[in-house]
Amino acid sequence: MFSVQFKTTDELPKPSPNLINQVIGQDEAVKIVLSAVKNKRHALLLGDPGVGKSMMVKAFGQLLEHSSDFKPYSLIARPNIKNSEKPIVDLIEGRMIEETAQIESPKLMRQPPSIFTLLLGIIVSSLVLSYILNGLSDPSSKFAVIAAISVIGSLLVFLILFLNIFGATKASMPNSVSPADVKPLVLYECKKRPLVRASAYNTTKLLGDIKHCPLGGKPPIGTPPHKRVIIGAIHEAHKGILYVDEIKTMPVDVQDYILTALQDKQLAISGRNPNSSGASVETNPIPCDLTLIMSGNMDDASNLRAPLLDRIDYKVVLKNKMDNNQENRDKLLQFIVQELENNNLRPMSYEACCEIVRMAQLLSGSKNKLTLRLRQLSNIIKMANDIATGKELSESIEEMSEKEVKPEVTVKAVKPAEKKNTRKIRAVVGKLKPKKSEEVIKEVKPVSKAPVLEKDDRVIELDHINEIISTGIYSMSKQVAIDYLKNFKRYKNIVSNDKPKIGVIHGLAVLGADGLGDVTKIITKIVKSKHPRTNLLNISGDLAKHSITLASALSKKLVSDGTLSIAKAKGEVAKEDLDLAEHEIYIQFSQSYSKIDGDSATAAACLSIISSLLNIPLKQDFCITGSLDLNGEILAIGGVNEKINAAKEYGFKRVIIPQSNFEDVIDPEGIEVIPVTRLEEIIPLAFELNNL
Ligand code: ADP
Repeated sequence: MFSVQFKTTDELPKPSPNLINQVIGQDEAVKIVLSAVKNKRHALLLGDPGVGKSMMVKAFGQLLEHSSDFKPYSLIARPNIKNSEKPIVDLIEGRMIEETAQIESPKLMRQPPSIFTLLLGIIVSSLVLSYILNGLSDPSSKFAVIAAISVIGSLLVFLILFLNIFGATKASMPNSVSPADVKPLVLYECKKRPLVRASAYNTTKLLGDIKHCPLGGKPPIGTPPHKRVIIGAIHEAHKGILYVDEIKTMPVDVQDYILTALQDKQLAISGRNPNSSGASVETNPIPCDLTLIMSGNMDDASNLRAPLLDRIDYKVVLKNKMDNNQENRDKLLQFIVQELENNNLRPMSYEACCEIVRMAQLLSGSKNKLTLRLRQLSNIIKMANDIATGKELSESIEEMSEKEVKPEVTVKAVKPAEKKNTRKIRAVVGKLKPKKSEEVIKEVKPVSKAPVLEKDDRVIELDHINEIISTGIYSMSKQVAIDYLKNFKRYKNIVSNDKPKIGVIHGLAVLGADGLGDVTKIITKIVKSKHPRTNLLNISGDLAKHSITLASALSKKLVSDGTLSIAKAKGEVAKEDLDLAEHEIYIQFSQSYSKIDGDSATAAACLSIISSLLNIPLKQDFCITGSLDLNGEILAIGGVNEKINAAKEYGFKRVIIPQSNFEDVIDPEGIEVIPVTRLEEIIPLAFELNNL
């Protein structure tokens, strides 16, 4: 299985501390995106969930951290004295600003008192003074007047000065901003090249926002706009990587903002909620010179607007399968060791590791492939670890309840009867018998309900993995399918290996996305009618409906042409019996309650119609899956292994599958798998021709 022999994964080398070396199976994508990041090109990663898109980006972030050509910077918000609704955000590069004390507050415009007013005051007071003094002859009265006027003059000058300053401040600071409010604010400090992750739907987190300033709420009313600025991930990622996942959920307006940011390498922040007081605030454009990496599932790219898509230089599709060879099985082993180490799990036995590889094979849908949807495998490993731990926990609890657990009683102290006779505190009750004269002080410890488990040397075994697989707990659709089969299988009227029947055949289906296979009984009845048509019963999906219509057309053609050897064999079929213009065909997918949408039942339906039309019984010891084209070729289908398993589970002896799926089949033990390429090959396998 692997190129190394081992008993448990403990014997294997520890994983590399570099995340980039831990990404497996995506070598090409890693190479391309690495070059994109180095050259500051934008990239879009597309692929199935759990193939390592986020992991790859995280790994690039780790590499970026060590880049030496990065100057730290801070983003500082300060008020705009001229227009308070347009706060200013500065980027200060080259040094870290941790406290605003390091930055100067903007100066308030304190206007000097008006010189003109002062001069006027002095002239007027001198005139008044000389007039009064002229009229007075008594020197003491003159002195009294001079003193009084000096006091009044000083008061006036003081008043003028005060009014001037107050007036000037008021005039230059609109909207009642107090001097304390002009203090700048450090919004963000960036010490190393950043990797910032944001979800496409979270507009505020992505683009930034201006907080609302509600009455009596937070921030308190009157908070100046520059203190309400929220920096977006797009700004935090300046000089680094912005990773946006879930592109499917990205609103169109957000795409436009991102496009602007990519083009201008800067983006202003404004209030996003039109009903908020923040909506009237807008900052200056803030630098955001970044590398954008976006990711999503294959179909999600259609959600991106063409101009944005055009701006993305690299579009990289991640693989969801790799070849099943020893090199790749070793890579899977490396993955298992990484998962165990990174998540602090128990070691895993060799057999359990082999089972994980088998699971990777099964999930890939082919014997020759291994899945790269590694999150699924990671979940299975983690749950198997939990089961190993849980088993141990329940065993310990069982052990504890089997033994009658008595509370532990210890002698805390033995008090001597006589003061002179001092004795030391001693051991546990039972061992220590106090003298009659001694008073024992006991301490009773409560019994702990659950035993405290320490990580022991037990490993994750094959059984633990099998338990996860059999319950299907790692996949929602699997569980639903298992539950469905458990509850409905016994009600299904499927009798394997019964005697041959006319128009009855067993097809195969898969329930759910990565669910279980199931057997579907297909029954066809043909009745004479003036209105020739094909009636489909219990067939839900369009594709299934079309494929059955095709099967019915094909069977009519094959029968009336006499192309089929079976038609020749049954030479006594009357010409008018084959005239389908006189017949109505009913095809039923019996007891099919789950949605069937696929064309894999075309071959089965076609055989069922032919059987019914020619009155030739079909054998009942086989199931068949295969799509049919108009030339009678049997084409590949999906979920072949799940389908074969279902046939096996219902007790069928044989299963007919398309030749092109044959190489995907994993361990077909207990059932004969027959690959076919054309409809004619199936005739002797399916029909009971002996008694004709
Ligand atoms: P995605 O972003 O494609 O949905 P993630 O990167 O979040 O997938 O993968 C989830 C987890 O699955 C990772 O943290 C890692 O443990 C495992 N994993 C997925 N792909 C890989 C891979 N190519 N190599 C190693 N581990 C992987």
